[in-house]
Amino acid sequence: MLRRMLLAASASERLRELAVSTPVARGVVARYVAGDRAAGAVAAARRLRGAGLLVTLDYLGEDTTDAGQAAAVTSEYIALLGRLADAGLARGGGVEVSVKPTAVGLGLADHGEKTAAENITRVCAAARGAGTTVTVDMEEHSHVDATLRIVRALRDGFPDLGCVIQAQLRRSFADCAALATPGSRVRLCKGAYAPPPEATFASRAGVDRSYARCLGVLIAGSGYPMIATHDPRLIKIAAARAYLAGRAPPSFEYQMLYGVRPAEQQRLAATGARVRVYLPYGSDWYGYLVRRLAERPANLTFFLRSLVRRS
Ligand SMILES: Cc1cc2nc3c(=O)[nH]c(=O)nc-3n(C[C@H](O)[C@H](O)[C@H](O)COP(=O)(O)OP(=O)(O)OC[C@H]3O[C@@H](n4cnc5c(N)ncnc54)[C@H](O)[C@@H]3O)c2cc1C
Repeated sequence: MLRRMLLAASASERLRELAVSTPVARGVVARYVAGDRAAGAVAAARRLRGAGLLVTLDYLGEDTTDAGQAAAVTSEYIALLGRLADAGLARGGGVEVSVKPTAVGLGLADHGEKTAAENITRVCAAARGAGTTVTVDMEEHSHVDATLRIVRALRDGFPDLGCVIQAQLRRSFADCAALATPGSRVRLCKGAYAPPPEATFASRAGVDRSYARCLGVLIAGSGYPMIATHDPRLIKIAAARAYLAGRAPPSFEYQMLYGVRPAEQQRLAATGARVRVYLPYGSDWYGYLVRRLAERPANLTFFLRSLVRRS
């Protein structure tokens, strides 16, 4: 219930304006976000690479309703990839980028899907030039079909384009089976949005069981599974399944969010596993932060107190 309320708050324009226009809870924001600008994000990525971790960078923003803004976000990604190449960080996919389809136009009233596909194509071309890859994030349930259509279409030209499957959705086992093909990069997460009840598993245990089933199909397949979770039980299951399937560390990776279980990120990397940190930056942090608070309500009291104090 609290999670659903919080996720509804992530879409509220009034709350977004209040939160973003006041210097609220900087401590909470800084825990999850690498700063407002690309320079800070590149510096943070360099530190993580130095600690033996891989990185995927996300320029914060979503639900763009303006084609100019979608183009500006695309340009930001292209400039970022240039910086990463210059810094020697992009090579071999050490630092890649994650793109939200609605940030580059998917939600536009006219030709949203076409615009997002064109913009993601431009980001993919820049990533290829820099020597790295792109992963397309998954957002609200209403965007899943269009997002998967875009990924399928773009993979003709960019076979290393990654996509995301949300285990909370009932459809996801079938999606994983279809995506477990040679070279296919698939990030498996639980899902950070609130889909309609009929489309989702109601209980946390149901989502976890779905995650384990999806994991099974991805690990048994011939793609490149990207296991995005902080859940200790699922990490153990993933390690055991990978071992039993004879998958060596370079044939899959773990992924975790910046600021969440950093000691576990280091522990896994020390075992020789590939571990990638999802590292967001930018000033439009509100939606991202509220989804993180929905996963971890313990942080909520601190955040709301600072919001009330400063408003
Ligand atoms: C690399 C990466 C990329 C992602 N991309 C997407 C995407 O494209 N689309 C999408 O819908 N979702 C995405 N997610 C979010 C994901 O769907 C979950 O909402 C999130 O990962 C929490 O689920 P969990 O698997 O960690 O399990 P949970 O059961 O939520 O958490 C397990 C444990 O991890 C710790 N933890 C989890 N979250 C937090 C937090 N915010 N703060 C502090 N501790 C925490 C706690 O100890 C918790 O007990 C992504 C997650 C990761 C790691």
